[in-house]
Amino acid sequence: METHNNNNKDHKIAMVGTPCQILAATKMDALSDYTGGTPIDIKIGLFCMENFSYSFMKELLKEYEMDIKDVQEIRIEKNYLWFFLSEDRILKIPLEKAKSCVRKNCQICMDFTSELSDISVGSVGSPSGWSTVIIRTNKGKKLIEMAEKDSYIKTKPISESGLKIIEKLAKNKKNENKNEIRKRENIGRPVLYRREISEDEFEREISNCQFEDLKGDVVDVGACVLCGACIYTCPENVIEIKDRKPEFTGKCREDCNACYVACPRTFILEDILSKDLDKKPLGDFIEILSAKARIITGQDGGVVTALFSYVLSRNLVDDVIVVDKSSLEPWKPEAKLTDNVADVLKASGTKYAACPIFKSLKDSRESKSEKSKIIIEGGT
Ligand SMILES: Cc1cc2nc3c(=O)[nH]c(=O)nc-3n(C[C@H](O)[C@H](O)[C@H](O)COP(=O)(O)OP(=O)(O)OC[C@H]3O[C@@H](n4cnc5c(N)ncnc54)[C@H](O)[C@@H]3O)c2cc1C
Ligand code: SF4
Ligand code: SF4
Ligand code: SF4
Repeated sequence: METHNNNNKDHKIAMVGTPCQILAATKMDALSDYTGGTPIDIKIGLFCMENFSYSFMKELLKEYEMDIKDVQEIRIEKNYLWFFLSEDRILKIPLEKAKSCVRKNCQICMDFTSELSDISVGSVGSPSGWSTVIIRTNKGKKLIEMAEKDSYIKTKPISESGLKIIEKLAKNKKNENKNEIRKRENIGRPVLYRREISEDEFEREISNCQFEDLKGDVVDVGACVLCGACIYTCPENVIEIKDRKPEFTGKCREDCNACYVACPRTFILEDILSKDLDKKPLGDFIEILSAKARIITGQDGGVVTALFSYVLSRNLVDDVIVVDKSSLEPWKPEAKLTDNVADVLKASGTKYAACPIFKSLKDSRESKSEKSKIIIEGGT
């Protein structure tokens, strides 16, 4: 099938993302005949228990006579959700109360530690100022070893108690959200990505599915993770995020089902996301460590920022995708594709809201092709 994503095989990208975003990248690459694939070469996954909905947070803040537009930063610490507002105001809301703002899609997510990444990074399990690092692939292991040898990071063994906490949280997330998945299926709200499906059934199910089906099967039933994979993969550029939801703005190409296939919440084959992972709280891994950046500061150990600075300065990739704050609306995360270490440093820290990160890949491809068009026109 013809797709638009004629990725340059020499162009390599490192991404950081939540487990659902890592799943989307993995799925797009595994099904590149449909989606065109991605140029992502290194996947750094974050731990993620839940994410927060902008519209629910807006309503919650109203209860405290605060406006989301004034939010400069959000943090989770010591069982509170902390809002850092303009004019040096700080509002802290018990995490239990803030749970009412958790995105509906997070309640059907079974992955706490980004099980499909090369390296996963989180805070839980390591001392303050350190990150927990789960090395999952040989590529990830080599990168950690090189970054340590070149003094970008330092590592130490994880404590036994730290390891137990991560395992407990990961098990709880799997068990609780498995129950929610059952409940939703029982009331006719499909959770397609968790259904068992053979290759033949997969082919049949996806064959005629276009954006309207994606909307019905994912967006309208509270399963969309707002990753932007559908936008990235659409050859007709007819999907946009409006009011924090993907919406259709045009006419589909005949025989195209790229958005439906790319989505991490539609059917997934066993060889991409194995049900065996349900029985392994932390997924498959080679090694688990505590790590810390040597110079850089970040949310926890600054490991993601240090690794991205390293891969760019050693030319191991051409660009990285980071998630920074929007300059106009600081509460709002904004993804950026960049080859500039200054952008990586600026984007350090966690942003607790969903972000369509794959849109940044599309924006960049379009701006690059626009630039080359201008050069060709100028030369004739
Ligand atoms: C929504 C969310 C929930 C999380 N929940 C947990 C949790 O329950 N337990 C836990 O241990 N850890 C959690 N984390 C991970 C943790 O907050 C840190 O991001 C992680 O420990 C890395 O720290 P660091 O100092 O190495 O990263 P830094 O060096 O500070 O770099 C952080 C990187 O994360 C990227 N980033 C920031 N926000 C987002 C986002 N919304 N989507 C994609 N990328 C982003 C930035 O681009 C930056 O490069 C969560 C992260 C997110 C985004
Ligand atoms: S679906 Fe929610 S909980 Fe799961 S990885 Fe994505 S943001 Fe985190
Ligand atoms: S919106 Fe239509 S044209 Fe775009 S990817 Fe989906 S099915 Fe294809
Ligand atoms: S509908 Fe689009 S934005 Fe939402 S999860 Fe699927 S691919 Fe991601």
